[in-house]
Amino acid sequence: MGPLRKFIGIGTRIAAGFVVMLVLMASLAVIGLRHISETNARLKGIVENNNVKTELANTMQNALRERALSMHVLSVMNDPFDRDIEVQRFNSMGAIYVNARQRLEELPLSKDEDEILSRIRVLTRQAQPEVQAVVDMAQTTNSSEEMFDRIRKFAIPRQREIADQVNVLIRLQQELTAQAVKSAEASYREVKELMFLLGTSALTIGLIITIFVSLRVSRQAKQLATQALYDPLTSLPNRNLLQDRLEQAIAQSRRNKHPFGIALMDLDRFKEVNDTLGHDVGDVLLTEVGLRLKQVVREEDTVARMGGDEFVVVLHSFSETDVSKFAEKILAVMEAPFIWNEQNIDLGVSIGFSLFPMHATDAGSLVRYADIAMYAAKRSDQGYALYTRDQELVQLSDLTLKGELREAIQMNRLTLHYQPIIDHLSNRIIGLEALARWEHPERGMLSPDTFIPIVEEAGLIGPFTEWLLRVSLNHLAELHEQGYRLTMAVNLSARSLHDLELPGMVASQLVESKMQAKYLTLEITESAVMSNLRDGLEILTTLDRMGITLAIDDFGTGYSSLTQLKQLPVDKIKIDKSFVMDMEKNENDAVIVRSTIELAHNLGLKVSAEGVETREAWDMLTLLGCDFSQGYYMGRPIPADRLFDWLAASSWSTGRAEPRPEAKVLG
Ligand code: C2E
Ligand code: CA
Ligand code: CA
Repeated sequence: MGPLRKFIGIGTRIAAGFVVMLVLMASLAVIGLRHISETNARLKGIVENNNVKTELANTMQNALRERALSMHVLSVMNDPFDRDIEVQRFNSMGAIYVNARQRLEELPLSKDEDEILSRIRVLTRQAQPEVQAVVDMAQTTNSSEEMFDRIRKFAIPRQREIADQVNVLIRLQQELTAQAVKSAEASYREVKELMFLLGTSALTIGLIITIFVSLRVSRQAKQLATQALYDPLTSLPNRNLLQDRLEQAIAQSRRNKHPFGIALMDLDRFKEVNDTLGHDVGDVLLTEVGLRLKQVVREEDTVARMGGDEFVVVLHSFSETDVSKFAEKILAVMEAPFIWNEQNIDLGVSIGFSLFPMHATDAGSLVRYADIAMYAAKRSDQGYALYTRDQELVQLSDLTLKGELREAIQMNRLTLHYQPIIDHLSNRIIGLEALARWEHPERGMLSPDTFIPIVEEAGLIGPFTEWLLRVSLNHLAELHEQGYRLTMAVNLSARSLHDLELPGMVASQLVESKMQAKYLTLEITESAVMSNLRDGLEILTTLDRMGITLAIDDFGTGYSSLTQLKQLPVDKIKIDKSFVMDMEKNENDAVIVRSTIELAHNLGLKVSAEGVETREAWDMLTLLGCDFSQGYYMGRPIPADRLFDWLAASSWSTGRAEPRPEAKVLG
């Protein structure tokens, strides 16, 4: 059942519940009111009727009492005139009595009432002669003695008999009224009970609806909250929750002063897998990636899915020194192949790191910087990268930079700086390394780390290398003309090893500059060779046959061993500056430098060290038997136009270790 249909179903049920409740309430009101008004009408009828009857019965009773009184009065009256008046009163009382009785008889009567009335009628008829006799006597005789006797013995008892019956009638009326009131009361009670019953059922239904609705709503709210915060596929926190966790991490880091970092990961070949094996397989893989990531992080760290094949880890108490260790851990778990249908799927991952508060102090920028670093990682061979401002320059304006760079190469606007390479045996400069520079009109001097990746991406590596060789070899030729028999080291990009026309191009540049091949050294990083052994080997072999010196650059940063490298026609290795710069402080690095020199020598390779920044490092390398060195201690990379001045002035230029007091300008 779709959620919408389900929702409509619930809505209908709730509406039905409310309708039932409303109907109950309405019927409650109607039934209750009708019942009450009926009871009221009935009661009114009964009470009005009984009131009239009681009233008439009372009138009869009063009239009888007045007549009895009149008879007594007549018996003691002497004045005939007074007697006449009293007789009149007596007769009028009789008339009132008769009138009341007749009216009573006209009213609707019950059987009991009818019987009582007929009894009264009979009694009245029987009493009539007796009463009349008394009245007649009162008018004719004076002897009250006899009359008094008659009244007492005959007239009064007769009258009393009638009065008794009237009393019975009155009591009957009273009883009937009491009964009516009682039944009305019962009826009211009934209505009250009915009302109560209906009211409570309406209330119960209302309550049930309320409980049901609120349970439903809270469950739906919870469901919505989960949907809003978690990725349904991997059950990992989604972008929203990540934002929240990042803000928490920032607050926490501000409190406890521990820096933290984020790692943004993007799968290298996910799109490929998704397109070829289908989305279902893609989903399975993403879930597996999520699980693997959770294995390597600590309990308190957050693994979130940003969407697509991007994951982010928030790493608590994390600083620059933790980057490589953590990256290696991730790379290791991701290296294990993903297996689907007995098929090994190799996904690969690129990781970008950014740090709080070193790079940014807000969540949005941290993610953005990690993203920039991730792209830099994709460009590099290392698989991971920590954010640097240069990466951003590359990324921010990749497109415009590409255009500008193409123009700069064409218009010869790139320049080369040269760093001296010193021989440990003679303490003399034996060569130069050409290092490219781009003086950007707006951005200022850009380092090769920034723009070489753009050169590669723009497909400009061919023309660039050609330019590089032409300019550096021309400068070298000039130096040779001036008497400086130096070598020139030129860096090759990893992409150049795919270019089978490279050896031909190098050859033609050598010819053009009239330089012998033995003065040219080409440097190539170990990872560049290893990642493209087939073409690389062919190109390097050709170059080697031409008599060019080949050097492995940045040695120690990759995973290859010297024995592997020995398979290549290389002559020289350059120990990466990161080991050299730290070897005085870091015993590990010192061991690496020492053993690299020994092993290389055993294999018949020359060793060069980079990043020599101090006298101590220089001396230590001399002791270790290192062949050549370059570094800020001996000389920084120098612009071409200042090179002659430096060569003329530097103590390294003549082979003396101490700087000379005056500069000697060479013609
Ligand atoms: P690399 O080939 O390892 O070059 C040495 C780098 O270390 C240079 O940085 C240099 O300025 C720096 N350096 C030299 N001595 C010291 C020192 O004592 N201490 C420190 N901290 N650094 C030192 P640069 O010029 O920024 O070049 C960076 C990288 O760019 C080079 O590393 C190289 O891989 C690449 N690159 C430079 N020029 C070219 C080029 O013309 N073509 C190609 N394909 N790559 C180049
Ligand atoms: Ca180099
Ligand atoms: Ca290097």
